[in-house]
Amino acid sequence: MSQFEERVKAHLVELEQAGLRRTLRAPRGIDLSSNDYLGLANHPCVVERMSAAVKELGAGSTGSRLLRGQRECFEAVEHKFAAFKGTERALYFSSGYLANLAVLSTFCEKGDVVYSDEFNHASIVDGVRLSSAERVIYPHGTVPDAKGFVTTESLFSMDGDFAPLRELAATGATLMVDEAHAVGIFGDRGSGLIEETGVSKDVFVSINTAGKALGVSGAFVAGPEWAIEYLIQRARPFIFSTAAPPAVAAAIEAALDVIAAEPERSARLRALARYLRQRLGMPESDSPIIPYILGENRRAVAVAERLQAEGFDVRAIRPPTVPPGTARLRISVHANLTEEILDRFAKTLETVCRDFS
Ligand code: PMP
Repeated sequence: MSQFEERVKAHLVELEQAGLRRTLRAPRGIDLSSNDYLGLANHPCVVERMSAAVKELGAGSTGSRLLRGQRECFEAVEHKFAAFKGTERALYFSSGYLANLAVLSTFCEKGDVVYSDEFNHASIVDGVRLSSAERVIYPHGTVPDAKGFVTTESLFSMDGDFAPLRELAATGATLMVDEAHAVGIFGDRGSGLIEETGVSKDVFVSINTAGKALGVSGAFVAGPEWAIEYLIQRARPFIFSTAAPPAVAAAIEAALDVIAAEPERSARLRALARYLRQRLGMPESDSPIIPYILGENRRAVAVAERLQAEGFDVRAIRPPTVPPGTARLRISVHANLTEEILDRFAKTLETVCRDFS
């Protein structure tokens, strides 16, 4: 065995011993873990529009957007998304991870200071690292005394709580808001928490994933014309990567149409989220992400496995995704669940936790 192989295998053993080794598990059971909050990934309109677009436009885009990968359907969906978000322009990236890398590494330069919430997603953390800017981590959910850039999620992915967007806006900092888990759900038109909290004018850019409530994949950076133009010129994750399959753009257009035509989906989602939180004795909130903290890594995995055996697809979330000692179930609610299923789940969860206390 080479020294390198030995080193890697030793790391795998360390992960195993710490209860941190992950396994890949395909969906099985009632979905209480995906980010398909509105149930759009299998919505007939979305699926049909995507299938038709594959037939018309082919499977792959064949190149970068700056070269032959550019298609009218990307421009069309970007136009539509900008209108949805109420910004001058939007740019589509093939993932939210790349969109965050692009925004932070392109706009933040050496000499800048970026204030980042301590619970921000890994793609934000990595984006700041990739820039040459200084990073200041501020305590979760607080408002830093910031002069430069502030980057935050609007709905936090693992805690399901909301950033103090109004207070952050009032600092006058250049605000970059990741709406990954909020877009499609919050605000009168479903465009997100920026709309809901009325801070549109104070936000520089937002990052909006299309792989969660929109049910497809990729992400839009939405903001002023000059900022989007600069991303096209300079953002390496945009420039040096093959454009997404064109049919994805058609599917996202369909998802936006469904969100506009069926606002009852997000209302239903929020009602179910309130319902389950109440059943679990948690503080009231509309957030569809419910963290059920179990603490120890192995305990979280054991509880998740028992729930899975009972037919509920719930996943354990462990460090480094969440801070050490806060391993948890990340329960996510979906618009197409029912109160009866949630009752059954809450009861089972109670029993299983008692067994593993
Ligand atoms: N930002 C946040 C807050 C996220 O939760 C995620 C996905 N987990 C991303 C960005 C990355 O998005 P994508 O999955 O499209 O790469």
